[in-house]
Amino acid sequence: MIRERAYPVDPWHIRETRLDLDLLAQSESVFALANGHIGIRGNLDEGEPHGLPGTYLNSFYELRPLPYAEAGYGFPESGQTMINVTNAKLMRLLVDDEPFDVRYGELRSHERVLDLRAGTLERTVEWVSPSGQAIRVRTVRLVSFTQRAIAAFLYEVEPLDASCRLILQSELVANEQLPPMSKDPRVAAVLDHPLQAEEVLEQKAGGLLVHRTKASDLRMAAAVEHQIDAPGKHEVTTEGHPDWLRTTVAAKVGPGQKLRVVKLAAYGWSGSRSLPALRDQVGAALASARLDGWEGLVEAQREYLDAFWDHSDVKVEGDQEVQQAVRFGLFHTLQAGARAEKRPIGSKGLSGPGYDGHTFWDAETFVLPALTYTQPAAAADVLRWRHSTLDLARERAQTLGLQGAAFPWRTIRGQECSAYWPAGTAGFHIGADIADAVRRYVQATGDYDFEREVGLELLIETARLWRSLGHHDRHGRFHIDGVTGPDEYTAVVDDNIYTNLMAQQNMFSAVEAAKRHPDLARQLGVDDEEMASWRDAAAAVHIPYDRELQVHQQSEGFTRLQEWDFENTPPEAYPLLLNYPYFDLYRKQVVKQADLVMAMYIRGDAFTPEEKIRNFTYYDARTVRDSSLSACIQAVMAAEVGHLELAHDYLGEAALMDLHDLHQNSRDGVHVASLAGTWISLVAGLGGMRDFNGQLTFAPRLPSRINNLEFSLLWRGLRLRVNVTSDEVTYSLRNGGGSARLVIHHHGKDVEVTQVKPVTVPIPPAHPVGPPPTQPAGRAPVRRAPQD
Ligand code: BGC
Repeated sequence: MIRERAYPVDPWHIRETRLDLDLLAQSESVFALANGHIGIRGNLDEGEPHGLPGTYLNSFYELRPLPYAEAGYGFPESGQTMINVTNAKLMRLLVDDEPFDVRYGELRSHERVLDLRAGTLERTVEWVSPSGQAIRVRTVRLVSFTQRAIAAFLYEVEPLDASCRLILQSELVANEQLPPMSKDPRVAAVLDHPLQAEEVLEQKAGGLLVHRTKASDLRMAAAVEHQIDAPGKHEVTTEGHPDWLRTTVAAKVGPGQKLRVVKLAAYGWSGSRSLPALRDQVGAALASARLDGWEGLVEAQREYLDAFWDHSDVKVEGDQEVQQAVRFGLFHTLQAGARAEKRPIGSKGLSGPGYDGHTFWDAETFVLPALTYTQPAAAADVLRWRHSTLDLARERAQTLGLQGAAFPWRTIRGQECSAYWPAGTAGFHIGADIADAVRRYVQATGDYDFEREVGLELLIETARLWRSLGHHDRHGRFHIDGVTGPDEYTAVVDDNIYTNLMAQQNMFSAVEAAKRHPDLARQLGVDDEEMASWRDAAAAVHIPYDRELQVHQQSEGFTRLQEWDFENTPPEAYPLLLNYPYFDLYRKQVVKQADLVMAMYIRGDAFTPEEKIRNFTYYDARTVRDSSLSACIQAVMAAEVGHLELAHDYLGEAALMDLHDLHQNSRDGVHVASLAGTWISLVAGLGGMRDFNGQLTFAPRLPSRINNLEFSLLWRGLRLRVNVTSDEVTYSLRNGGGSARLVIHHHGKDVEVTQVKPVTVPIPPAHPVGPPPTQPAGRAPVRRAPQD
């Protein structure tokens, strides 16, 4: 785990003031740069030492076998793994014949700074070579938000005491050797050398490599060029080989002088474009980057981020650590999705190889809420991508004997890639999560063109799935049996409440959207009878309830299962899935992550306030948070039921997931759902924002330590700013002109906001709440409020 304060608290920077080689892999994820299309891990420029080298292109993957000891009908046969593509960030330096390597010589200082406003990673090093030559190296890198195909690197070296010979070798390397990714030799063999060389082009100060994958048959090109600024005589040469291309700059540099090299890198990939077309594509991208030059790219990056922060920033006063972390989280959320452009958002973004680079419901349920209200175009593109995979989802439904579309639990290209049914295909709720994201996006933007273009069909095909997956019993009640909800420690169950309520909303949303676009709905084969069947099923959805305990059952029979023995579960036995058989987890009351609690947030309209209080207390005591998706949602519900200090604790956990490496696996990439979930904890949790039935409502309340919270939302083109203090809230509109008005609910009362004048309203006194819920032994979140 990263010790507290590994990165000092600073509102706009993540600063690492000394290099700790034990934390290298984690820091590579924290310092990863991406724009949704290209992702590069924060590896040291010279490539070694490294934790996990990584360069990724969204949706560039290789197929690999999914080996089963015992196969079954409908099991996916082939998996997809995001692969490490050609690395353009390598810059090796020789100082008077000695390689600059932080493990040798004397490392006088080493600092890396991720600047959240500039969108750059800067590194400053002072190093003395084993033979005594002192140098200062400053490097800055960016993955451009404005030029999607471009990454750029600045490398500056200056001798500190005496003249020396500097040799800078700037490389493009394909098929880098990686630490083993899979214990299965069949899988390891496929992923060992995934790229086959197709073309090499060397020019004086740069060149190009084109490669192709063997089984998935995708082609990628990477091209680089260098702009060199050396004080005196220097030489530049380039050598190209099938798997590497090296531009060497040799110069003699004196103290007070600098060798400065700018490397521009362009990436492109395609499953259909020809080699010449792809070669030209990256050539054109380089030409465009050259037009701006390094300074222009840096300036454009800052302007892009200025605009982003202007409408997305969340300000938190009173907990500076959370302030830093929420900005870090928003930055990574943006990096994951900004320029994905009709490609998926993986659960690690493009920051590491974790979960094979797959996208899950994490994208629609955790990332898209934040994007919908801050970067709606990026949210729409993710859903357009889902729509582009509809045929595959229909095929999957057919294989399973179902109607409509069965979206994959995890995938890159659209095919189901989960080899484990109970925590894979059985997670049918993904379909309703997609439908919910469509509903939310259309409601928040009023973008009915989008609804016609892709939204309606997504709603219809997912509604069809529910209608065929569920059934009416002899009393008419509608059940959905044999599914897994968000809690993967309770699998293949009947009537999971989250699934049922989400399916209900999915079917109702499909009916409403079909009524808005009757012509299109007819073309998609919907008739009155089908709509009536969705309505009937939705209205009759069964909601299991335990009358004796007066709590809902997460799924039928859940509350009568045996209790888990938390008292005798040692801290090192978490996460439980690595230390107990699923068989044992499945038959006991132990919850991996918010499930019913998640339902009470997204479908909060389906529960009374009293039910929410009782359910939250019951399930918080049984939820172990073995998934990083849990804390942010528990924060939301803790706030809603009045436990603000606990909400703050959960918020802290979600926010610090990667900065403190709380799950001890940040090395594989950052936890994008938790980082985006931090926004949810603040906006929906402490801000109490909900959007049921097209009505924007707020119920803000702050915990003791936070004295001010400010955030902005886009609602139907209007920018609403919400500023919360301990006793009042100011709502203001930031655009829309004099006539713009928006009616919101504030703690149950209508408030009209115009651009002319901000409205300040008091926060009503809170109802008294009982003692805070308890958590399983040893699983309470770290307290954030000062303790007496
Ligand atoms: C969680 C899932 C999540 C996946 C990817 C699992 O551990 O249980 O809910 O989608 O990780 O983040």
